[in-house]
Amino acid sequence: MPQRHLIAANWKMNGLKAALPVAEAIADIARNHTSEVVIFPPATLLAPMQKVLEGSPVKLGGQDCHYMDGGAYTGDISAAQLKDAGASMVILGHSERRHGHLEPCELVARKVRTALRAGLTPIICIGETLDQRKAGKTVDILTKQLKDSLPDELEGQEFHVSYEPVWAIGTGMIASDAQICEAIALVRTWLDNRFPAATPKLLYGGSVKPSNAAHVLKLSGVGGALVGGASLTVDEFAPIIAAGD
Ligand code: PGA
Repeated sequence: MPQRHLIAANWKMNGLKAALPVAEAIADIARNHTSEVVIFPPATLLAPMQKVLEGSPVKLGGQDCHYMDGGAYTGDISAAQLKDAGASMVILGHSERRHGHLEPCELVARKVRTALRAGLTPIICIGETLDQRKAGKTVDILTKQLKDSLPDELEGQEFHVSYEPVWAIGTGMIASDAQICEAIALVRTWLDNRFPAATPKLLYGGSVKPSNAAHVLKLSGVGGALVGGASLTVDEFAPIIAAGD
């Protein structure tokens, strides 16, 4: 039986309480489709969104967490707090954290361990910059990110990996079929060797839109999509959910 696609809505630093009806509408749409839909709202909306989504198939996730279980870390949020607010997943190692917050792979790996301890399913993001791709370093970068961001503790746990070329995020410049397939195949081979018992979904992220979602989701090995900009409105996100059928 083919795996259900995982369609993830990464709202980033967008969304006030006024956006809760969007989540409600997404839940109504998700009921009529086969994909697993997860919304990653800003942390402030997790608890109210959980109420809105009660009884619906849509799950919630956090966009990041701290590497410590708790304590004196002003302004941060712990994995346990995400869980407490209704999250069952967390995005870790997104390029906006790796590059915007200078998070190295080793920190991502620590966060993965913390997330697992809290009972969250991590979606670990990897991806090369345009300069790295132009320099022919994509394979090396992706392999290093996999090696250093995915800790041993993932063995036997549920987790997913999202391939997100940095240059495709928020640019409207989606990666080519060949680029996506090559990267996904590399990740699958690496994971099969490193975590043979695991069955992670491999997502693609970067300028997924209603116009390209069905095509991307049919590419070999692609198990879902991590969607940023096009997940913020029902008009754009509904066809992406439908594309996963
Ligand atoms: P985008 O973002 O869909 O707006 O390109 C994707 C992501 O950052 O996960």
